[in-house]
Amino acid sequence: MASCIFCEIVANRQPASFVYRDELCAAFMDIQPVTRGHLLVIPNRHAAFLVELDPRVGGHLFAVAQRLAQALRESEVRCEGINLFLADGTVAGQEVFHVHLHVIPRHRGDGFGLRFPPDYGRRPPRHELDAVAESIRAAL
Ligand code: 5GP
Ligand code: ZN
Repeated sequence: MASCIFCEIVANRQPASFVYRDELCAAFMDIQPVTRGHLLVIPNRHAAFLVELDPRVGGHLFAVAQRLAQALRESEVRCEGINLFLADGTVAGQEVFHVHLHVIPRHRGDGFGLRFPPDYGRRPPRHELDAVAESIRAAL
């Protein structure tokens, strides 16, 4: 994989402030944190998108993120809550095409948040939810 910044970090060819490493994954400080303490957890082996990621490695990323979330809560970082966030695809906000799970410490008044579409708040009727569920189930 040519010129993937996260692969370069895993290979120690680019600097990073690591908090955790093992044979499957690495966690380090985001270079442009949303809040102080913002971490990224990545697989050591390159996978651009979720579809390319071994689900066992995906599970491991989540388990490590859980540990990091607890460490953040116990550290001096201001952390009254946590968001785990993963952008898969450009339209979802992905900018670095090597899978990464954001671990973002939250505190009251931090200014971060989600923006919802204008029709958010409408509750679709059950038959509509059932139809969508059926189409997704069929694809499993
Ligand atoms: P995405 O939008 O793809 O979910 O998030 C990419 C994240 O990677 C951003 O939060 C950005 O600040 C972070 N990032 C981009 N380049 C680097 C880098 O070279 N080092 C580190 N530590 N983080 C990076
Ligand atoms: Zn990579």
